[in-house]
Amino acid sequence: MNYPAHLAVTAIGLALIMEFFLGGVDIALVVIAALSALMPDMDHPEAKGRMIVNAAVAILAVWIAFAGSMLVAFLIILGWFVGSNFFVEHRGHFHSFAAAGLFGLLIYWALGEQAGLWAAIGYSAHILEDGMFKVW
Ligand SMILES: [Zn+2]
Repeated sequence: MNYPAHLAVTAIGLALIMEFFLGGVDIALVVIAALSALMPDMDHPEAKGRMIVNAAVAILAVWIAFAGSMLVAFLIILGWFVGSNFFVEHRGHFHSFAAAGLFGLLIYWALGEQAGLWAAIGYSAHILEDGMFKVW
């Protein structure tokens, strides 16, 4: 399944679940969940999730470089490039519920409890969708 399908299926599916089981749709949480549904494919070189993470790593490295440590910024970029290109296989560890939990934890630390929960749900939705539909 490609990224537009993951975005649409996750957003529509979770919005329906929110509407029928939680009494209303929280658009911000649906957006977080839908974007999180792109993240498992960060193990694929052409995936949108990979592009989002590449941009986040670059922004983090620039921020750290301006904060004073060019060496740490260089190591972050080198580590991400080497790790994501040589040690990750498509539909490997990133397509697991353990990775969904870790991703949810990361978002929890960054954005709070509800965002972390719905990020983990969106990430998990991607794994389920890959298992249910014809995949790329
Ligand atoms: Zn996938």
